Amino acid sequence: MRHRCLVLALTIASIASMTAFADDPKPNDKTLGLKPPEGAKVLLGSTLEAWTKGNGKDAAEWPVVGGAATVGKGNIQTKDEFGDFQMHLEFNVPYMPNAKGQARGNSGVYLQGNYELQVLDSYGLKPQSNDCGAIYQQIIPAVNACKPPLQWQTYDITFHAAKREGDKVVKKARLTVVQNGLTIIDDKEISPPPGGIGGIKEGEAGPIMLQDHGNTVQFRNIWIKPLES
Ligand code: MG
Repeated sequence: MRHRCLVLALTIASIASMTAFADDPKPNDKTLGLKPPEGAKVLLGSTLEAWTKGNGKDAAEWPVVGGAATVGKGNIQTKDEFGDFQMHLEFNVPYMPNAKGQARGNSGVYLQGNYELQVLDSYGLKPQSNDCGAIYQQIIPAVNACKPPLQWQTYDITFHAAKREGDKVVKKARLTVVQNGLTIIDDKEISPPPGGIGGIKEGEAGPIMLQDHGNTVQFRNIWIKPLES
């Protein structure tokens, strides 16, 4: 009898956990291929015309094939600078079974050249502050919304810049990030983490920078729409 009760209890528990699992929202393709809305600027369509090398002067040299740019030859940054904005981008991390942690499909999207939204192969991991979807060393994604490597993934970003009064920051930047259709950062206050272009004060307009961390991450379909602050 005791054995039966235990089996029954375990069965109920496993059905309950399966139901919970089934209800968890899954990463999806709803925003894959999202078209730029009116007023948006295309940053990566078929060329890297909108970008320079990390020195801010020379033409960006990442190879672009079929609209997909592959990381190589250093960071790149947009020619334009941005304040508040809505942005869409798609990325694809390589399959690197022999690499671990930060060496596995690492790149990054620097907002205003200051705040790194991490790109990494973090498929199936419990999210940490240096995983894909994290603001590096600061904000842990609410859920793991990563797809496996070699699949196109999306970030849909809403960024409100910090506000300055003279030398003082009177309001921190705020950020919402949707990864593969799931909200991973929901209107969180952020400060500049380590790294970035340097020399851009918190709250000043800055370019978008894409990081070369030595891994062949790909990007495509990047557009940005300035917002009223
Ligand atoms: Mg990175």
